[in-house]
Amino acid sequence: AGFQGGSWSGLDAELRADALDKVAQRLEARVGELAELDARTSGVTITWTALMTRLVPVIFRQASKALRSGLLRQLHPGRYGAVEVRAVPLGPVALIGPWNAPTTIIAHKLASALAAGCNVIIKPSEHVPHSTGLLVDAVLEAGLPTDVVQLLHGDGAVGNSIVSDPRIKAVSFTGGLTGGRAVAAACAQDLKPVQLELGGNNPLLVLADADLDAAAEAIVAGLTTLNGQWCRAIGRVIVDRSVMAPMLELVKTKLGTVRLGHSLDPQSDMGPLVHRQHLAQIQQAQQSLLKAPSSTALNPTATPALQGHFHPPTLLCGVPHEQALEELFGPVATVHPFTSETEAISLANAGRYGLAAYVFGDEQRALELAGQIRAGSTQVNGLSLLSLAPTAPRAAWGLSGLGDEGTLETLRFFTGHRVIGVGGQP
Ligand code: NDP
Repeated sequence: AGFQGGSWSGLDAELRADALDKVAQRLEARVGELAELDARTSGVTITWTALMTRLVPVIFRQASKALRSGLLRQLHPGRYGAVEVRAVPLGPVALIGPWNAPTTIIAHKLASALAAGCNVIIKPSEHVPHSTGLLVDAVLEAGLPTDVVQLLHGDGAVGNSIVSDPRIKAVSFTGGLTGGRAVAAACAQDLKPVQLELGGNNPLLVLADADLDAAAEAIVAGLTTLNGQWCRAIGRVIVDRSVMAPMLELVKTKLGTVRLGHSLDPQSDMGPLVHRQHLAQIQQAQQSLLKAPSSTALNPTATPALQGHFHPPTLLCGVPHEQALEELFGPVATVHPFTSETEAISLANAGRYGLAAYVFGDEQRALELAGQIRAGSTQVNGLSLLSLAPTAPRAAWGLSGLGDEGTLETLRFFTGHRVIGVGGQP
């Protein structure tokens, strides 16, 4: 009813952009609170949640800028004059988020859907419900019509009831493969557009001529960023056999200095895993991988004398590659030696995911190899939580997702085209 009333969808794009800027302004004053809420609920350290929540107002401003660029209305030359291509909002849409980076992920979906002119229903993860409430407060305080954003708390069954509802016209989902498949199946009934950002088992390649210190630094960052609970975290380290021993030695030294601690302590490099069940899953998966004969665990990080679901960042060596292809979504990765670049690429491309990859080595050669890896994005000689370019699409291959995300991409996802113009004789 809210959508049909047109209080938001019927607004001129410029006015919607103004409103999004006001939301950004409100959020700028509250990024500290958002960071603390996310650190308390997800276990991600305050240093990381502060970095990510600082992006939240920026996300709203980017959506506003995209809206002002004329994205929603374009003119094409037709045989009988200009033909108008309008990108109009699909209708009321559902946004479903995970627990690892709750505010940033929902903010991106929310800003894009609002820019498109959609009314939204948000279901955050039940494990991290608080920060989304603050986001919705900011939207309402900025003066958007009260029926534009609805926040519904609940578990996966609640999420399923929303995405299955024929009144919902599109779904943007970030989460795991099981949930993603269930959402896709529910959307199939009404042929509802669905955007899925799922998991990964991301390879990090170390070539013989790599800067081993930089590679080791990246491996530690890949294991500890967001406590290893990050869709672009490293899953497999694929390393030239000739440099494997010195590289592991460097990683061991660096892991020994990682400070595992309270998520609200700015001195902590890494916090506890999100909840007891997730810790149990990671421990179980690790034990199962370590059943392989001659497999070993490299995990010299000290565990703090605190209550919490702590798991040290860990590299597992000697695990057969074919047993290491599932996503763990925790601070654990496996190590696999290679003897030729062909073998390295074949290992990197094994498995059904295709989200992110990293290559360390001579820049030119690494860039050439990067193009051969089936992944949405490949970083050469670096590993960062931030995208290579803020305007580039965030793509996914295979079981890692469906449909690119990005400032323009997600905004477009929430719209459908209407082509209008004067016709003539056949
Ligand atoms: P889940 O798939 O368990 O949950 C994601 C969200 O979907 C939650 O809000 C959950 O509800 C809900 N949900 C679960 N089942 C259904 C269903 N059938 N219909 C509708 N909604 C449902 O993922 P996690 O929260 O455990 O997040 C971790 C996963 O997210 C990892 O696999 C990770 O790789 C992926 N991820 C991907 C990112 C990317 O950009 N590609 C970014 C971040 C995470 P509830 O949990 O409340 O029950």
